[in-house]
Amino acid sequence: MRELARGGLSDRIGYSKKATLKEVSLRRIWTLFRSYSRMLYFILFLALTAAVMGLVPPLIMQRIIDEAIPNKNMTELFWYALLMVSIPVISGMLGVWQNHLNTKVAQGVMRDLRQGLFRNLQQQSMSFFTGARSGEVVQRVTDDVQAVQNVVTSVVVSSITQIVIVFTTIGILFWMDWRLAILSVIVLPLFMIPVRKVSAMRKQLRNETQKVRGDMSSMLGEIFGISGAMLTRIFGREKSQEQSFEQMNTKVMDMELKLNLMGRWFMMFLGVLGPLGTAIIYIYGGYAVIHDMMSIGAIVAFTAYLTRLYQPFGTLLNLHVEVATSLGVFKRIFEYLDMSPEVTEKPHAAVMQSTRGDVTYEHVSFAYQQDADVLQDISFAAKAGEMVALVGPSGAGKSTLISMIGRLYDPTEGTITIDGQKITDVTLESLREQMAYVTQESFLFHATLRDNLRFAKEDATDAEMEEACRKAYIYDFVQGLSSGLNTMVGERGHRLSGGERQRIAIARAILKNPRILILDEATSHLDSESESYVQAALQDLMKDRTTLVIAHRLSTVLAADQILVVEDGRIVERGTHEQLLEQDGLYTRLYNKQGGKTWEEPHGLWEVQE
Ligand code: ATP
Repeated sequence: MRELARGGLSDRIGYSKKATLKEVSLRRIWTLFRSYSRMLYFILFLALTAAVMGLVPPLIMQRIIDEAIPNKNMTELFWYALLMVSIPVISGMLGVWQNHLNTKVAQGVMRDLRQGLFRNLQQQSMSFFTGARSGEVVQRVTDDVQAVQNVVTSVVVSSITQIVIVFTTIGILFWMDWRLAILSVIVLPLFMIPVRKVSAMRKQLRNETQKVRGDMSSMLGEIFGISGAMLTRIFGREKSQEQSFEQMNTKVMDMELKLNLMGRWFMMFLGVLGPLGTAIIYIYGGYAVIHDMMSIGAIVAFTAYLTRLYQPFGTLLNLHVEVATSLGVFKRIFEYLDMSPEVTEKPHAAVMQSTRGDVTYEHVSFAYQQDADVLQDISFAAKAGEMVALVGPSGAGKSTLISMIGRLYDPTEGTITIDGQKITDVTLESLREQMAYVTQESFLFHATLRDNLRFAKEDATDAEMEEACRKAYIYDFVQGLSSGLNTMVGERGHRLSGGERQRIAIARAILKNPRILILDEATSHLDSESESYVQAALQDLMKDRTTLVIAHRLSTVLAADQILVVEDGRIVERGTHEQLLEQDGLYTRLYNKQGGKTWEEPHGLWEVQE
């Protein structure tokens, strides 16, 4: 089937430059964390305990300077020193515990999100996948979800801890000396100037970096996918692709450098402002000490507290950037979680129990895009066991037509029934149970032959698989492989020829043993031996099943009970080969164009554009 990606998913959804609270409700984010709430509360308790413990060392310093040393009391000195060491040890241990729990919560939420995204993506219709840029789906499920870790550690836990540190420190400063406290707090507004400016710039730069990174993964996915890699080589575009990649790659590097540099400038401003506050305290505090208004220990303790004030304050000012980034991450994740599939099951849909396999299309129309009908008013009936062949020029709509029976797309108008049951009234699983698709490009997963075959029937025994391989004329080939059914195939496994792949796909269909068979005959150039095997396997497969086939061979067309000639999305002629020749229309013209002879060559001769 031709899969045209018209307007990638990113165009439809777009990278979120701005995520607002309205779009991403905090309540919804909270629901993700709800099942971990007890752990979160405990994390906060640990963080707060560590924050409060951090208040103690400067007080000890004060006691050492003002009491223990002047009193020449070695015992007191020893105990204070011991306390100074034990507090960081205890808070360090609490930190390790807290960090472990942080990771546990973050990883738990990430696992839940990945699972939710996977489930929802599995339910999406084909239109989603034909529209999505390759790599983007992977990026959302992996990178975006990864960013959640940051939300837990930097936003939730760290911000609350910083708030507690700032407020407890301000409290203790005022308790020690309110005049000095006012002086130390006075410099705080100065922090806002660089922080606001830098954080706005960092935010924009981060968004841009994320976008370029997204483009980069999409590009890598396309270029290093098998088809992309082959196309690149055939057209000799390795150099130019390397150049475009280099541009993007360098851009990422430049942006990261800029981001980092901006971060350093920001830290430098903070670094300058910190000592400024300390200097003010030393001037005023020194004056107070000289005039016996204050002890030296108090000044030392005071300045020690200042570092606990300025650094967390700077980080807090940056918080809104972190929050905005996190909202952006959640927005993108929620967009994917909220996507509803175009093809859906009715609530309480029945289970299809087909025994015959009568297929009817009644006045079926379809458009991939509004007002651009690809199929118009298609009606036909394929009786149980019949073979209906579709022929017509390329792009006429044949693949689209056959894809509708398994509800890969739903008609915009009209109905399709199997044994009188509307396919929209039954569950998707039971519907698809009734049919097997064998397409031109037979896809095999990167797994063993056995796993690939079991994709059609999970509990297939080795004997069943061997029987299916026999019927698909691939048994000898499989037997000849050193690992037999255990041979790895697919994307990066054993390289199978086009004909072998097709016969494996046919064996897969045989295992499924469906009532209805949907077939897109291969137009790819198989060697004649392989071709005859594929043909023979297909003949066997079609026996006693209702078959809809996009036909490229005269033998298929001749064997068909009914031939539908499709042009521009309509059935323009129908009948058997002889009847159609009598009609002397498009079918006859296509037939004559080939001299009525060469159809057995597998070149997709019906595909000639009129
Ligand atoms: P071919 O034999 O060359 O594959 P076909 O007769 O099977 O052709 P379809 O693949 O059904 O034709 O395509 C019918 C029309 O629908 C074409 O114009 C095609 O460009 C368009 N089309 C196919 N797939 C999509 C898609 N996913 N999104 C939008 N348009 C599509």
